[in-house]
Amino acid sequence: MSQLPIDGKPLSDQNPVPSDQHALHEQAQRLRASGRIEAARWCASPNYNQRPDGQVPSLLVVHNISLPPGQFSGDAIEQFFCNQLDPGAHPYFQTIADLKVSSHLLVRRDGSLLQFVDLRHRAWHAGRSSFQGQTECNDFSIGIELEGTDDTPYTDVQYRQLAQLSVLIMAAWPDITPARITGHSDIAPGRKTDPGQAFDWSHFRVLLAGALGNRGVT
Ligand SMILES: [Zn+2]
Repeated sequence: MSQLPIDGKPLSDQNPVPSDQHALHEQAQRLRASGRIEAARWCASPNYNQRPDGQVPSLLVVHNISLPPGQFSGDAIEQFFCNQLDPGAHPYFQTIADLKVSSHLLVRRDGSLLQFVDLRHRAWHAGRSSFQGQTECNDFSIGIELEGTDDTPYTDVQYRQLAQLSVLIMAAWPDITPARITGHSDIAPGRKTDPGQAFDWSHFRVLLAGALGNRGVT
């Protein structure tokens, strides 16, 4: 396999999602079997459990996170998701260090990818939530964090990475359709605001449609 983790290297530069349908299908099969994005650096989080019987991913939830809030450097996000955040390192960390949360994936500002939870498993990213009447979105969703804030423009490479990841994940779990890619704020309104006004959904959906169209997927 060609896409072993190359930390700091954008997924799109590694061309991990094949442009031909057969190769995409093969990569999606491997993803379904392993639960791992091959281009992501693996950082195992203990904060997960099994999805309820028979549940396969059918929803993709877009989030943002930055730690400390508004700062885009350092290892605090992965420490947080792995229950290793030092509460003494920053005043804000004292308020969150005991939380047990996770997401499946993180897309950093430079496009590098980290994975914390096997996509077949249930990460703890959505909290109390509902999508089209179905509650407990963690049961049936995949959570992707973008390193960012609600009002800081996301980087071009983050949009490209998110579109590439979406194509691969949709190929692996076809119950996830473009209409079933949503924001945390949409499934937990009044409680959550991410990915925020800075996230340009129309730009993302154009990129996604282009990526799907290029591969003959509808
Ligand atoms: Zn969120």
